Amino acid sequence: MTKVLVFSPHPDDDVIGCGGSIAKHVAKGNKVGVVYMTSGDIGSLAHSPAEIASIREREARQAAGCLGVSEVHFFKNHDGYLDCTWKNLVRVTSLLREFRPHIVYIPHEDDRHRDHRKTHELVVEACGWSGSPRAPVCGQNLWRVGTILCYEVGTPVRDCSYVEDITDYIDAKSRALAFHSSQLSNLDYNEAVRSLNRFRGITTGGGTYCECFQVVRATNLFSARDSFRRGD
Ligand SMILES: [Zn+2]
Repeated sequence: MTKVLVFSPHPDDDVIGCGGSIAKHVAKGNKVGVVYMTSGDIGSLAHSPAEIASIREREARQAAGCLGVSEVHFFKNHDGYLDCTWKNLVRVTSLLREFRPHIVYIPHEDDRHRDHRKTHELVVEACGWSGSPRAPVCGQNLWRVGTILCYEVGTPVRDCSYVEDITDYIDAKSRALAFHSSQLSNLDYNEAVRSLNRFRGITTGGGTYCECFQVVRATNLFSARDSFRRGD
């Protein structure tokens, strides 16, 4: 079974960046997990950090469940202060060796939000560790991640090097995003996301609605990912 692991700096980035692809993976029978690096504890002026973190974790569980995600993890780093620490590298590498994903999704490296860039840096580094015997503290079952794709949230990717047609899943993506009501009350993310995905569809010719990604690493051209691309 193809396994997919999505790393999300805050609850909602997963849905905004690759919610359509998540729903598509699930529809194709792939197993999908999501890791929230922070719980978004500075995402509200109306609630204390503990209150809004609890609210956003609940929203994330509901949204992920709506998309068919089979497991979620909350790493509970401080929102706004994510760093590529030894502790985070060990946690991410250990999870990679345990979950053994074929495909990993992360934010792209030019995202304007610090936590997003740090998630990119941290997970790319951990993917290197995961396949190397240099980190025995992370478990003995080395695992090499075949494909790493970078999604866009607030900052569009400059060059789309992979396009996924999510036309059949755009409404599922909107339904999942609606669970993040604590954030939608600040900005109309749903309209922004649908507009960006429509823009991507038109400008790439890849479908009515598309998600665009930057490729860090890609393998399995004639097996897992290729089957996914052809819609088998
Ligand atoms: Zn974010």
